[in-house]
Amino acid sequence: MCLATIVSQSTPSGFSATATIRLSGPKATDIAKKLSKNNKPFKHRTAEVRNVYCEQDLIDEAVFTAFFSPKSYTGENVVEISCHGNIHICEATIKETIRLGARVAEPGEYTKRAFLNGKINLIQAESVAQLINAKSIEAAKQQTKNLSGGVTKKIKRLKRDLILSLAHLEYELDVSEEVFLDANTLIKLKKNLKDALNFANSIIDTFDKGAALVYGVKIAFVGKPNVGKSTLVNKILGVDKSITSDTPGTTRDIVSTETTMNGTPVLLLDTAGIHNPKDNIEAEGIRRALDEIQSADLVVSLFCKGTKPVDIKGLKKQIYVYNKIDLSPYTGGKKEVFMVSATTGQGLNSLINHIKEKIGFIRVDAAEPLITTIRQKNAMLGISSYLTSALRLLNENGKEIELPAQEIRSAIDNIDLFTGKTTTNDILDQVFSSFCVGK
Ligand code: GDP
Repeated sequence: MCLATIVSQSTPSGFSATATIRLSGPKATDIAKKLSKNNKPFKHRTAEVRNVYCEQDLIDEAVFTAFFSPKSYTGENVVEISCHGNIHICEATIKETIRLGARVAEPGEYTKRAFLNGKINLIQAESVAQLINAKSIEAAKQQTKNLSGGVTKKIKRLKRDLILSLAHLEYELDVSEEVFLDANTLIKLKKNLKDALNFANSIIDTFDKGAALVYGVKIAFVGKPNVGKSTLVNKILGVDKSITSDTPGTTRDIVSTETTMNGTPVLLLDTAGIHNPKDNIEAEGIRRALDEIQSADLVVSLFCKGTKPVDIKGLKKQIYVYNKIDLSPYTGGKKEVFMVSATTGQGLNSLINHIKEKIGFIRVDAAEPLITTIRQKNAMLGISSYLTSALRLLNENGKEIELPAQEIRSAIDNIDLFTGKTTTNDILDQVFSSFCVGK
């Protein structure tokens, strides 16, 4: 299949010292030679200064670096052109490469080509997109780990173990006249499958932590007006984002601020006070607050002397905080209430530690690779369910081995789906559509 040569700017559009335009495909070096009106052959991984022409006009002087197939990001011939970071120069250069035979790259097309050329697997491709969008250095480190094959190594071990178990069964299916396993082989096989199942489930369990790192965690602060929600959020952030005032109902809408806790991106939502609204704007603020509260990972329910905490049913996780202890101590009978003063900071450290604990922000273990996309999780759930079914069949009837063998084969197929060794166009479209242009 003869693929087109693609081009796009791989740095953000705007004005900057330099910008990079990347060509990839069979005509990359030819187009770069014509663009520079310099027919001298490129050398692999060697930067050289060349002119950039638009038809006959010299428009810039840039650094050209060529990477020859297969030793490039995409596995194809690639030329990176570092020109001056001016929008007009970049646009004109890209237009000229198109006139010379390239076409504009689709989002994620460079990485898709890297995947199709066997340079990376699907998990690594997903890591590229998530690395670029990482919201904290810990999230970036995690993706770098996945990019260098952390999860892939784990899953390869699982595949090797399952192939061994399947080989035993297939041997029996091939050679035995009566297809059943002796007691010892059956015990050993069941143990191997159980180990594999536990291993698959342990990988699935990493998703919550992985998703928290990538997508972040939402914490909503709720309570009657004037209990000190904005003051507390500001204190936690160390900045004055919401306006605090002693007139009830000041925070009419939701004020959301991103921060990080133990490297996990966190969205703190300072919601409108929940009370009987005086006008439509307040009513809308309260409706939105209730929506956000339902989707939050943790709700911090604030109250102070003379007010009760708002009780919202069906929340995932909620903690009660009694504020303004500097004015009056807590005398109510509620258990598990955190007592703080948002203005003096009293009790704040233990509240923050409790929030971290409650939401499971344990420091991400550097050695542990995590799965981070729904696609990865679904493929792992498939593996787990085939293994569960194989074990159930062996437990029900240890003599019937054709069906458990089929389940193990399906589990192995799902491992290939997980890494992208086998895949469908739908999955590829889904993975690469989340990329930005130029990657
Ligand atoms: P919100 O409506 O729940 O967001 O409440 P605010 O954060 O706007 O606070 C309402 C008023 O209570 C402001 O005047 C704050 O300065 C005051 N306040 C908040 N927390 C404390 C506290 O811990 N101690 C005292 N003394 N005043 C507080």
